[in-house]
Amino acid sequence: MFIIGFINLFMRILKKIINLFTKKQKIDKEIEDIQNKCPHFHKSLKSVRKRLDSTTIVIRWVCDECCLPIGYPNDKEQQNYIK
Ligand SMILES: [Zn+2]
Repeated sequence: MFIIGFINLFMRILKKIINLFTKKQKIDKEIEDIQNKCPHFHKSLKSVRKRLDSTTIVIRWVCDECCLPIGYPNDKEQQNYIK
């Protein structure tokens, strides 16, 4: 009985996770579509994470509308930002 309860719990967690990952994928795709269509009219220098899964913070030109990092600042721009 204990084993069956354990397997049920495991299956419930797995089902929930798969469901969430599917939703996350859908949301990521939606964000990507919006960012692909964005003309990136306005940009600002912002501190962003280097990659989604990293904790390294870097300075990038980021689109004000769709939040996509679209360029690297040159040394002067970077210095001005840090000041
Ligand atoms: Zn944009």
